[in-house]
Amino acid sequence: MASDRIQRTLAMVKPDAIERSPEIEKIIQEEGFTVVDRRRVRLTRAEAEEFYSEHRTKPFYPSLVDYMTSGEVLALILAGEDAISHWRRVLGPTQVSRARQEAPESLRARFGDPTNDSRNAAHGSDSQTSAHREVKFFFPDLTLEPVLTGEGAKEYLSNAVSPTLVRALTELCKVRPEDPIVWLADWLLVNNPNKPPVDK
Ligand code: ATP
Ligand code: MG
Repeated sequence: MASDRIQRTLAMVKPDAIERSPEIEKIIQEEGFTVVDRRRVRLTRAEAEEFYSEHRTKPFYPSLVDYMTSGEVLALILAGEDAISHWRRVLGPTQVSRARQEAPESLRARFGDPTNDSRNAAHGSDSQTSAHREVKFFFPDLTLEPVLTGEGAKEYLSNAVSPTLVRALTELCKVRPEDPIVWLADWLLVNNPNKPPVDK
């Protein structure tokens, strides 16, 4: 994978599709995204207005805000290669009737309402700047390290990951547990270098 193109984006299942979020999350998984965090919330009017503030002068803005506050939404941080454009591609065109014609397999074609231009099932950030803003909007307390790339990623693996893994795998070879995966998971929990030692 080209690690220099790993991005994070904000996906949101809108109120009209919230009942179908398990199906949408399955698509997210099948598309290969990593879900970094998820949150189901009901937006207040002020929050919906802020989230879609770029559209404040558009005629559809008041009804869009009505709609976005009509029920809960599911916000997800997705990570993956070119995640921003990849997720927009999975969504399909903004207008559901157009999505049905031009991208019948897309999420909006399958889950959106072709009779209402606001009820298009899901949202996706449209740029790095909006992804950053929208992730902060839904997850203000989450500290996300910058995605490491190239030499930085190699350095991180060799300094922070490999030493612990080498110890774990050496121990695993000595112990030869019946279920090595469960054993390794337990060992990593007990020996997590970023946390105080855990009592067995
Ligand atoms: P989103 O930002 O939700 O991912 P988008 O980037 O494809 O959608 P935008 O132009 O940003 O499209 O519009 C934001 C949202 O406003 C749309 O997803 C849709 O719910 C609603 N919307 C857009 N155009 C109209 C319209 N003409 N009438 C009613 N609602 C609209
Ligand atoms: Mg948009």
